[in-house]
Amino acid sequence: MEATPTLRLRPGKERSVARRHPWIYASAIAGVSGAPGSGALVQVQSSDGRFLAWAAYSPGSVIRARCWSFEQKDRIDAQWLVARVEAAVSRRQQLQEVTSAVRLVFGEADALPGFVVDRYEDFLVVQIQAAGIEVHREVLLDALCRCTACANVFDRSDPALRTREGLEVCGGVLRGAAPPQRLCIREHDLRYWVDLRHGHKTGFYIDQRDNRRLAGQLVQQLPLRKGRAARVLNCFCYTGGFSIAAARAGAQSVTSVDSSADALALARSNAELNVLGSQSAGEKTLGAIAPASLEWVCGDAFEQLRRLRAEGQRFDLIVLDPPKFATNQHQLERAARAYKDINLSALRLLEDGGTLLSFSCSAAVNADLFQKIVAGAVIDAGVDCYLRARLGASSDHPTLMTHPEGEYLKGLLLERA
Ligand code: SAH
Repeated sequence: MEATPTLRLRPGKERSVARRHPWIYASAIAGVSGAPGSGALVQVQSSDGRFLAWAAYSPGSVIRARCWSFEQKDRIDAQWLVARVEAAVSRRQQLQEVTSAVRLVFGEADALPGFVVDRYEDFLVVQIQAAGIEVHREVLLDALCRCTACANVFDRSDPALRTREGLEVCGGVLRGAAPPQRLCIREHDLRYWVDLRHGHKTGFYIDQRDNRRLAGQLVQQLPLRKGRAARVLNCFCYTGGFSIAAARAGAQSVTSVDSSADALALARSNAELNVLGSQSAGEKTLGAIAPASLEWVCGDAFEQLRRLRAEGQRFDLIVLDPPKFATNQHQLERAARAYKDINLSALRLLEDGGTLLSFSCSAAVNADLFQKIVAGAVIDAGVDCYLRARLGASSDHPTLMTHPEGEYLKGLLLERA
């Protein structure tokens, strides 16, 4: 049998792998032996030749290898990969009860770096963004289709990430049927239309599932505290996830802002999908949406927040879920200003005792920094606020303790005193 190619690290560059961080940068590598091909299995060794990890070789990427395992006894073969897929799917089994949109595989957190799989009803939407996943694609897809009983696989790999990995840009139907123009999924007691072909990410912000539910609960609690239904503002609403959850929970009004007319069109359809008339008999109608209470505003959230202030409007619950303001460390300063700006504007629109749900999905902005930025906005707004909870992505997007980069979504639940 041929020996497995090896990556020998430079002296002093072993620390990160020894701490079970899964990425090996090109700059950490002293030498490669055995001429591994793209995606091939390599053994990562310390500068003095000790075993550190098994990894997939990515010759075209700055992240030159991604670790499969830190156990020398592991045999990284098809069987091992299949076991990873089965474990990932089975970890999410109980989520099927609450939703038909689940992230089944979340890259590094499931020991499959560069691989993302989301299930929407009977469709699997995949992102293949590392050479190691690319070479084992068929084995991985076979395993996925077998253990989910889904026959349809659609590729939504991020072209930028594939390019950075040195892989050809690709996408589209990999197996079975093409996804319909819009697919109806369920999440808790709500339903949403999702565009798997063109929607953001793989079609929907699955990661905000728990936080949408939380928004609904906050709306439900308000009448007890204030004796009236909540007025809600949802900025960067996309297809209306938080808006529908708030409306269904009995909000008096929900104002939603997004700059994308397409997203808002789907948001309106989502509102229709969940209105009173479409509820099945016997379901309580109390929380159903009265369509008149929903206002959809197509525009720039920064400007709209100022307009609402100028009009003297006030809200009991405000959700800020902007797109990634920083894609890397160089954009941090500009991103920090943008986060502070919207949070300051939102705080000025918040009723006494009102709640702000403020999110950042920029991996480059860590939880500490995000909290500092929002605290700066609180100070500038001259208000007292309690930090009631720190929020994150739902449980199907776990963060591996040894790979903090995986924790991209951070949220703060602030209550104005
Ligand atoms: N909260 C949503 C996801 C938000 S994604 C959910 O749960 O589904 C971010 C959204 O911000 C996108 O829909 C994008 O169109 C919108 N967006 C980006 N820049 C914007 C801006 N300056 N003003 C308003 N919306 C913007």
